[in-house]
Amino acid sequence: RIAYVNGRYLPHPDAAVHIEDRGFQFADGVYEVCEVRDGLIIDLTRHLDRLDRSLRELRMASPMGREALRVVIREVLRRNRVRNGLFYLQVTRGVARRDHYFPAETTPPTITITAKSVDPAPMGRKYETGIKVITLPENRWDRVDIKTVGLLPNVLAKQQAKDGGAQDAIFVDPAGHVKEAASSNVWIVDGKGSLVTRPAEHGILRGITRTTLLDVAEHIGLPVEEREFSVEEMLGAREVFLTSATGSCVPVVEVDGKPIANGHPGSVAASLRGAFLDIAEKTTIW
Ligand code: PMP
Repeated sequence: RIAYVNGRYLPHPDAAVHIEDRGFQFADGVYEVCEVRDGLIIDLTRHLDRLDRSLRELRMASPMGREALRVVIREVLRRNRVRNGLFYLQVTRGVARRDHYFPAETTPPTITITAKSVDPAPMGRKYETGIKVITLPENRWDRVDIKTVGLLPNVLAKQQAKDGGAQDAIFVDPAGHVKEAASSNVWIVDGKGSLVTRPAEHGILRGITRTTLLDVAEHIGLPVEEREFSVEEMLGAREVFLTSATGSCVPVVEVDGKPIANGHPGSVAASLRGAFLDIAEKTTIW
């Protein structure tokens, strides 16, 4: 495997960042994960737009221009011969002697990009069986709309889910409303058959898959409501599913040990998944 580190393509075992990198010391960095299907990058423009926004919100410098970045991403994918898989891109505020204040403006940001192939079969099985989730009180900071590498609460939540025999965890706000899962957005199909997801203005990451799925729903004529919903409403929903760049729409069949509907994946998630690739932007690697 080959990774990109600050202008160089390195063998994966040699791809290293300095111990005084601010990403390592302060989680002072942002990232993106983007899916590749059949040699096509899914929704690259939206992911790069969100990266720009994350950088801006943290007053962090861009490591390179948009066109150069697209060239490097495609080169990393080609060098790793990825046809189905993903790339991971991270930018930090660079290397400087440890100090909370921002380093000098001349400090170059650190950029790293890795890519890997992913066997689509296990994800296919998840679509067939669905997954189990737990709910947890929200304990993250209030800027989770920025895609930072500070993911400790997400890591602890997912591990807690795994330890309890589930696969994912959903954060719930103090009013009892569903926020998002540890690395995906949450959707339900409500009693009227409407697709419901929390407004992205309110304490969640605006998922790229979420944005494109709203386009898909419009395209296939499904009614959508962007509104808050409670854990109680989720437990009584016709369907629950999670969206992320690497998972598309994953059906949830159990929440806190209670089955959703008949305990089997629903048809709405499946049809959205089916139409997703037709609607999403596709960028060729070659
Ligand atoms: N919420 C959180 C907390 C996430 O980490 C992710 C995945 N990056 C998402 C939502 C889904 O975002 P996307 O569809 O852009 O992958």
